[in-house]
Amino acid sequence: MKVGILGGGQLGRMLALEGYPLGLQFRFLEPFPDAPVCGLGEVILAPYDDLEALEPFARGLDLVTYEFENVPIGTARALEARLPVLPPAGALQVAQDRLSEKQAFEAIGIPTADYVPIHQRGELDPAAARLGLPAVLKTRRWGYDGKGQVVLRTHAEMDAAWERLGGRPLILERLVPFSRELSILGVRGRGGETRFYPLVENEHREGILHLSIAPAPVVTEALQHKAESYLQSLMERLEYVGVLALELFQEGDHLLANEMAPRVHNSGHWTLDGAECSQFENHLRAVCGFPLGSTAPLGHAGMVNLVGSPPPVERILAIPGARLHLYDKAPRPGRKLGHVNVVATGPAELREALERVEAEVSGASPGGP
Ligand code: AMP
Repeated sequence: MKVGILGGGQLGRMLALEGYPLGLQFRFLEPFPDAPVCGLGEVILAPYDDLEALEPFARGLDLVTYEFENVPIGTARALEARLPVLPPAGALQVAQDRLSEKQAFEAIGIPTADYVPIHQRGELDPAAARLGLPAVLKTRRWGYDGKGQVVLRTHAEMDAAWERLGGRPLILERLVPFSRELSILGVRGRGGETRFYPLVENEHREGILHLSIAPAPVVTEALQHKAESYLQSLMERLEYVGVLALELFQEGDHLLANEMAPRVHNSGHWTLDGAECSQFENHLRAVCGFPLGSTAPLGHAGMVNLVGSPPPVERILAIPGARLHLYDKAPRPGRKLGHVNVVATGPAELREALERVEAEVSGASPGGP
């Protein structure tokens, strides 16, 4: 089978690396010649909205999937007219706008932070009065890794926030005083069968994922069940096929959905070494119509992102059990260059291994521009 992937970043790279053992072949649509997938398959070098490039891209493919959610919807729809695009373009469309995403959550009873859509400066004060401060002002589209958002703590900060973000469709959200951030990843096959990975605990630094622990510590069966039921309903509503990630805030015993990603996700990278079947393999199994693989964890896993500066490869490889995954990207502040997975037999062993990894990578500055 030949799979087309829209996007040639690290997620596309890891999809291909996990897909070759299944006998799959890959072609990528990607604008940059030094992207992480280059050398890993045929690459059609073109912007994502170049509809003419879709002809050579789609020729002879069995299906198309994507590795980032900002694929222009026109591209997904044009491809959908000639071959299966999975996950469906409808899911992509919902995920591209924070408002439609929240409305989709609400429609199926998934709680979210209270919010108000904002179009004009004059709507900001009444919205803040309704939600209370602090609140977060976010662009509805194109936000990632904490970009395109400002925390408002006082009314005096509103003009500056509007200066930065105004002129685009925005959303103001209550700032959730969460106890921790979690995510859940699930996979749904072409026949509607589903599997779920355990809840993952995520720690961000400067808006970028720094650390994931999987399974998340101290998760009750009820909490795992709640997260799975939210994701199940979402996948059914979207007639989803592939891996879907849902980012959550835990507040007491409650889970509030922050956002979803209709693709493999950074908080699932631990599955490469820490689960029976990785998120990448399961995504490909799902979109290709193969049986899904087991999502069972193999132990206590942790993942540390390598951000910004080149990692000390030899020192990381000297840590017993550490598995290095590099994306072949040139270092740049704030850029994800790779990650390190560790899998341990218990929580104490995991903590010890992660401390060693973090000590080695702490020289690498996470800060972006
Ligand atoms: P996002 O781009 O929506 O994933 O937001 C990036 C990060 O900002 C999240 O992982 C949270 O740490 C924080 N954040 C975003 N929205 C909220 C919110 N409503 N309340 C509290 N923290 C938030």
